[in-house]
Amino acid sequence: MKEIKKKKIKIKKKKKFYTLATIVLLISMVFTFCFCYLLTPKIEIEKKKATFNYDEKVTIPKYHAYAMNKEIDKKVKVKSDVKEHEVGNYFVHYQVKYSFFSVEKLALIKIVDKKKPEIILKGSKDVYVCPSEEYEEIGFSAKDEYDGDLTDKVLIKNDKDKIYYKVEDSSHNTFVTSRNVYYEDNEKPVITLKGSNKIYLYLNNTYQEPGFDVKDNCDKNIEVKVSGTVNAKKVGTYKITYTATDNSNNTSSVERYVEVISNQESGKGIIYLTFDDGPSNSITPKILEILKKKGIYATFFVINHDDSLNYLIKREYTEGHSVALHSYTHNYQYIYSSVDNYFSDLNKIRDKVYKITGEYTNIIRFPGGGSNTISKKYQPGIMSQLTSDVSNKGFHYFDWNVDCEDGAGVRDPNRIYQNVIGSLSKSRENVVLMHDFENNYGTLNALENIIDYGIQNGYQFRKITMNTEEVHHRPNN
Ligand code: ZN
Repeated sequence: MKEIKKKKIKIKKKKKFYTLATIVLLISMVFTFCFCYLLTPKIEIEKKKATFNYDEKVTIPKYHAYAMNKEIDKKVKVKSDVKEHEVGNYFVHYQVKYSFFSVEKLALIKIVDKKKPEIILKGSKDVYVCPSEEYEEIGFSAKDEYDGDLTDKVLIKNDKDKIYYKVEDSSHNTFVTSRNVYYEDNEKPVITLKGSNKIYLYLNNTYQEPGFDVKDNCDKNIEVKVSGTVNAKKVGTYKITYTATDNSNNTSSVERYVEVISNQESGKGIIYLTFDDGPSNSITPKILEILKKKGIYATFFVINHDDSLNYLIKREYTEGHSVALHSYTHNYQYIYSSVDNYFSDLNKIRDKVYKITGEYTNIIRFPGGGSNTISKKYQPGIMSQLTSDVSNKGFHYFDWNVDCEDGAGVRDPNRIYQNVIGSLSKSRENVVLMHDFENNYGTLNALENIIDYGIQNGYQFRKITMNTEEVHHRPNN
């Protein structure tokens, strides 16, 4: 009994000990756990995944790290393999160490291409093909901002009268476009006249048709109907019409005018005022005002200026004056170096005037006149050649027999007036050389007096036409 009692006491003592030990252990575990928990750093990342277009600037997700209730952002090491502007998936690695603990976290960065590629069609979206022909691809190009040139990747599908073009970029963005093909001919034939569209014919001469060419986009052997007649026995303007029709009934027509003129008029007692080297902003409009006020017509031998002055040539023409040709460049060295240069320059100013007035003129004046000697320096004998060549080509060239001398530098209106009136003669036609180049106020200021003198003394003022008797100097070269 005593022994049993002793054993029970022993057991009780042991139990007490274990309970106490357990408590101590638990307390120390809790304590350690708390201690470790507090010492373990933590990282919070704003976004675990971020997506950017390849052309955007990549910003790595923000983070916040702390331990023991303290901010330890500065201890965070960030590593990333992000390649900006390159499509792909990348990781950002965040690591922080605190005491003997280390914590890591990852964020995903996606760089994507959401922009579509583009196909650029050459030619029109609506294509017309001759009914008897097949469509031939006109061409295209494809590009993508990310992949660059994708022309080779374009897929073409032909669906009856529609052609589809499709392209896909490396990020599977697609682009589709199309064009319509019409098997129709809606282009007119083109008639090109040989020779000028305005022909001068002397009374009682025979009109010879210079001919024409015709072309059509689809059809060959197009017939051209020529209608209209020229009565060479009667002065007047005659219209000849050329009409062409293709197999699809597209019709075009062009016209040519034939002017039958009487034999040259003799202009005794007539004054032809001529102005060279214009037009100019400062002088030409004022000359036109004076001419209008006096009700007379003059002749302007124009050269090429800035296109902003074209309206003055147009005004000369619409106000009834004669717009004639002087030179495109007025560059002696160029035009008198060769016959080809001369005519190339002349045709340039002739085309320019035609574009402005709608009429081709054959009335010309040589820079420096037909008797100039400066051309000797560039090509001996060229003036003898040119003066005969221009006539053979149907041009009428005019020198002068009255010189106001503004071309030689005279600027005094009185001297200019005297120079003109002192040379006028009733027994012949008078071609007066003057200039309307920029700031030529001397001539401008003498003009009204010259006209008044002419009117008071029984002269008539006319513009030069194809009927005017030509006044020539003797060539000196
Ligand atoms: Zn000149």
